[in-house]
Amino acid sequence: MSQYQAGDLIQKRCMKCFHDEAKVMKVERREFKEKSAVILWCQCPECGMNDDELIPQDEVVDK
Ligand SMILES: [Zn+2]
Repeated sequence: MSQYQAGDLIQKRCMKCFHDEAKVMKVERREFKEKSAVILWCQCPECGMNDDELIPQDEVVDK
């Protein structure tokens, strides 16, 4: 399972205002042919710009 959930703050540089955190609005799991990934739909808390981040699941360490 993903370690991310809606409401989390992640380290991500906003392309518009360069704020270095983004708030996760929605976590979506995607299955690709050979591996799965998690898409984080996020929003900058400063300027409100929407962005997304693709996280390959094999790089996510579940604990
Ligand atoms: Zn921003």
